Amino acid sequence: LTLMAVSMSISTRAQSSQQEQQTMDQFIQGLMDKMTLEEKIGQLNLPATGEIITGEAQSSNIAASIQAGKVGGLLNLKGVDRIKELQKLAVEKSRLGIPLLFGMDVIHGYETVFPIPLAMSCSWDLKGIEQSAHIAATEASADGICWTFSPMVDICRDARWGRIAEGSGEDPYLGSRIAEAMVRGYQGDMKGNDQILACVKHFALYGAPDAGRDYNTVDMSRLRMYNEYFAPYKAAVEAGAASVMASFNTVDGIPATGNRWLMTEVLRNQWNFKGFVVTDYTGMAEMIAHGMGDLQQVSALALKAGIDMDMVSDGFLGTLAQSVKEGKVTEADIDQACRRILEAKYKAGLFENPYKYCDSKRRATDIFTAAHREAARKLARESFVLLKNEKQTLPLKKSGKIALIGPLANTRANMPGTWSVAAVTSKYSTLLEGLQKAVAGKAQILYAKGSNLMYDAQLQKNACSFADETRDSRSDEEMLKEALEVANQADIIVAALGESSEMSGECSSRTQLEMPDAQRDLLKALLKTNKPIVLLNFAGRPTVLTWEQEHIPAILNVWFGGSETADAIADVIFGDYSPSGKLTTSFPRTVGQVPIHYNSFNTGRPLAEGSWFSKFKTSYIDCPNEPLYPFGYGLSYTSFSYSPVTLSSTTLDKQGSITASVTVKNTGKYDADEIVQLYIRDLVGSIVRPVKELKGFQRIHLKQGESQTVSFEITPEQLKFYNSNLEYVYEPGEFQVMIGPNSHDVKPVSFTLK
Ligand code: BGC
Repeated sequence: LTLMAVSMSISTRAQSSQQEQQTMDQFIQGLMDKMTLEEKIGQLNLPATGEIITGEAQSSNIAASIQAGKVGGLLNLKGVDRIKELQKLAVEKSRLGIPLLFGMDVIHGYETVFPIPLAMSCSWDLKGIEQSAHIAATEASADGICWTFSPMVDICRDARWGRIAEGSGEDPYLGSRIAEAMVRGYQGDMKGNDQILACVKHFALYGAPDAGRDYNTVDMSRLRMYNEYFAPYKAAVEAGAASVMASFNTVDGIPATGNRWLMTEVLRNQWNFKGFVVTDYTGMAEMIAHGMGDLQQVSALALKAGIDMDMVSDGFLGTLAQSVKEGKVTEADIDQACRRILEAKYKAGLFENPYKYCDSKRRATDIFTAAHREAARKLARESFVLLKNEKQTLPLKKSGKIALIGPLANTRANMPGTWSVAAVTSKYSTLLEGLQKAVAGKAQILYAKGSNLMYDAQLQKNACSFADETRDSRSDEEMLKEALEVANQADIIVAALGESSEMSGECSSRTQLEMPDAQRDLLKALLKTNKPIVLLNFAGRPTVLTWEQEHIPAILNVWFGGSETADAIADVIFGDYSPSGKLTTSFPRTVGQVPIHYNSFNTGRPLAEGSWFSKFKTSYIDCPNEPLYPFGYGLSYTSFSYSPVTLSSTTLDKQGSITASVTVKNTGKYDADEIVQLYIRDLVGSIVRPVKELKGFQRIHLKQGESQTVSFEITPEQLKFYNSNLEYVYEPGEFQVMIGPNSHDVKPVSFTLK
């Protein structure tokens, strides 16, 4: 009976979703029957307004374009009143009254800002990440936004690339789980006015530019695409993401924006994607420089490839009608793209109520709320990674004198990090304010800036943007003198150093990843005071900390923690919360090691250890192969012990599963979270297989002295990979299972797949 009830309810659901689909199809067809070719092309247009982000109206003829039916949506406008005004123009003044989409880069929060995505990924907290996306959607939608250009799921193994800050690191499995969580968080069932359309970006491979230089060429084997880089995009699509953004780079010799294999064969035919594809900002026009033709040619190429919406190039609007006349594209091509955009508007509920996201009252009640800020503070705490803690330097006591020193200690603008377009930094605390509040007079916080971020001579003159709001006009000597005076009075030094927020993100590639000289010199001088030092490393990427690892007793990597950074750092350094973050990218010892990642292949060298021949090995003559800190690494104030791994069976049948278990014990003096990681290695294959691959993880909480058995189920499905024919298969044979606290400290046990 129960089974019957279940199958009936499944078939009723299928029927009702079929009915919904039919109702939508009929509505859209009815609308499209009334549309002129020009109006259809208008829907494919996502122009710049000239009033980006600030909401200050600049001269723009956007109103006239909207009324003429030449606009499908707008981007990066902040302010529900302005958005409502423009929506009203579309609904009341354009011939067919089709509502607009309002998109924005809501990447890691809105006014409540969560840690940068790379930092968030280090929490491995899927629930918290999903919640962060839902909170971002709640706040953005209270301000008129119905579409976010997130999640960014580009895998990256190259710390030089500044946009590594925006993704979830180097791993396909973790990246996929986070991609799904974010899509769920933003979209939910899209019924509420606090749920918004997601856009997976940047499809594809944007995180692998040659030499880590932003926008540069990507060239990669299809095996690597399918086995490593594609996974998170596919996972986001399968989680129901409403839209996909094309990347700027080439894929297999053709810019992604004009790449029919990528946009149609892979995305639609193989992955069954049903939403719409938008170009990146000017991505279409950039194909002219790639050498793909003039604006008319590249626009036709993009439409034919499977692009539905043109962000800012004016290529579709300006040339498609002519291309139809010349037979370069058909009206059916345009219909298809137009239909997909109208479907997105329908699914967002805009035809039912074009002002669904324009409830101005929500602006006052739903943005930067205490609950949202608490969630951001929690995730920030979880995202910090304790890299070193010699002699239990951390946590600090709330007593005595603490010297807080560094160019990032007393700045507001550098807290949220890159792509915080809706941030209101005046509302956020500086670290100095956060620490003062936390000690509540029980300890004395002394402050000195100590140095600028960089020496004048090293300012990156050619960077896109380098607004060092902290820049001090005093001489370097004067600042250092003050810092040493302050340090000498204190019991301990907390140094807030690293990157400013503009040093990572778009157009912020770097070739040197060490602490800038001005700050390294400050650290060296502070070291001479012989006071213990805690380094808080601000970073939007894995920076090179080899010197710091050798000389500084405690290092906490704090990334850019968002609007609640200051309180979250106070929570951790004073021991109210034990650090639990684990790295999701390998940290190189030197920039010469990049690209570097844990799930690499073996080479054939050394062939025979100990023979004369063994010196011909895969290595550097000046640096070990291993990173400074491996993928999955992060310390805690407590310590954990891991028992050997046990398997429920050493053979796995094709239809079956086995369980791998380990007992983890909190052997230290703090209650804390631990992230237990499962890695698998396929020992022999028809293609070369990685030395290990993450296949599961669990975040657990253990009180002092407590232990817990953590189990993972392993099925043949998890052992699949794409073979040389790009078939997704598993191959019988021996596999190794490893469970541990990071990708390095694990011991294998074996099983055989029959
Ligand atoms: C970035 C995208 C972003 C878009 C819109 C582009 O420059 O590459 O990630 O969504 O601008 O702001």
